[in-house]
Amino acid sequence: MKKYKAYILFGAPGCGKGTQGRALGALPGFFHCACGDVFRAVPPTTSFGKRIAEYSSRGELVPDEITIQLWQNYLHNCTQTRSFSPKADRLLLDGIPRNISQARLLDQHVQVEAVVNFQCSNRFELVDRLHRRAVREHRLDDAKEEVILHRLDVFENATLALLSYYRPLPICAVNAQQSPTKVLFDILSHIQHL
Ligand code: ADP
Repeated sequence: MKKYKAYILFGAPGCGKGTQGRALGALPGFFHCACGDVFRAVPPTTSFGKRIAEYSSRGELVPDEITIQLWQNYLHNCTQTRSFSPKADRLLLDGIPRNISQARLLDQHVQVEAVVNFQCSNRFELVDRLHRRAVREHRLDDAKEEVILHRLDVFENATLALLSYYRPLPICAVNAQQSPTKVLFDILSHIQHL
């Protein structure tokens, strides 16, 4: 099987990966794939949905095998329905991988070409954005401060190490504390040269 071409949208919860992923995914030749959205699409009354909620409501990562399996099924379905064309489209991976073990599993399916690193060193700003999103999007996992803080810890302890894992590849750093328009402009300025 040929591997999917992909860019990774990388950064802490609340850094704006979803906002930018949706904008870039509207361009021809890109397909935005947000792992959190894939999970949220699983009906919460099914046993799978209940297991996912167990982890996400605590701000924990869903186990790697479930995550990769769901992600693969989702892309398979999108290919079948032709919303995603593996030949023509480049994946914009948002929220996956979140640790080294997921990165290794993904390597079997994906050829990562670059990483867009959303930099936001201000924890208060991230917490504030997540609080606002909780209200706007009825996100239960962002409603409690302790869960938000735990998600930020998980990012620092498990996800951040991925930057070294992908170090041989182009890593495009963008300042995520700017306006969404300016962040988008900076990402496009980077990726036009890739
Ligand atoms: P954010 O955009 O704030 O990072 P997401 O919507 O991507 O949040 O993810 C919400 C929750 O879904 C996470 O806290 C986690 O429980 C689960 N999740 C999302 N992506 C993954 C993943 N790659 N591996 C394991 N769990 C994940």
